[in-house]
Amino acid sequence: MLKFLCAGATALALTGSCFAGDAAKAQKPQYVIISFDGALHLEQWERSRALGQKTGASFTYFLSCVYLLSPETRKAYEAPGLPRGRSNVGSGYSREDVEGRLGQIWTARSEGHEVASHGCGHFDGKNWSAKDWAQEFDQFTTIVADAWKLNGIDGEPRGWQDFARREIRGFRAPYLSTNKGLFKTLEKAASPMTRAPSHAALPCPEHATASRISRFR
Ligand SMILES: [Zn+2]
Repeated sequence: MLKFLCAGATALALTGSCFAGDAAKAQKPQYVIISFDGALHLEQWERSRALGQKTGASFTYFLSCVYLLSPETRKAYEAPGLPRGRSNVGSGYSREDVEGRLGQIWTARSEGHEVASHGCGHFDGKNWSAKDWAQEFDQFTTIVADAWKLNGIDGEPRGWQDFARREIRGFRAPYLSTNKGLFKTLEKAASPMTRAPSHAALPCPEHATASRISRFR
């Protein structure tokens, strides 16, 4: 099922015009897709969840997995071809900040929102091989799955492991930068959804039936 991706001030600006369709247009599904890129700021989690409760909208949070690491645990991440701990977008601000984000993730999920992947270190993977992409995806899954333990945070919810390892399926490529290696890896993982360049022509998703991947262009 498709869901909205949303957060921030732009979201509010766009939704108005998107819902103001005529009767003919109303018969077609309309998708408002605005990314919460990285899913870092806790106040944006709060704000978008409150908006979801008020409007019934469902959001997809594209999480960068380094935001589940603190400055103390950031070296748990290793990007393809780079030294441990390197990230283009830093890490979570602190253990407490990570704890807050873990809580937001689980609450948003329980409210019916989707959590998806934005990879980990926000690197441009245009020259990555399929193996490099597979490493990045493995890192994402491992770090999300282990985030509570890694950061010494109690209270991992029951079901978290299943959520981390099986439920997170969507992917948004950092810089919307894709290549053959990425799609090869996505097909292997049978990831059903990815989002690719150009905000201009919003989307019925393009179903690549052979690969079972739906792309949003
Ligand atoms: Zn991004």
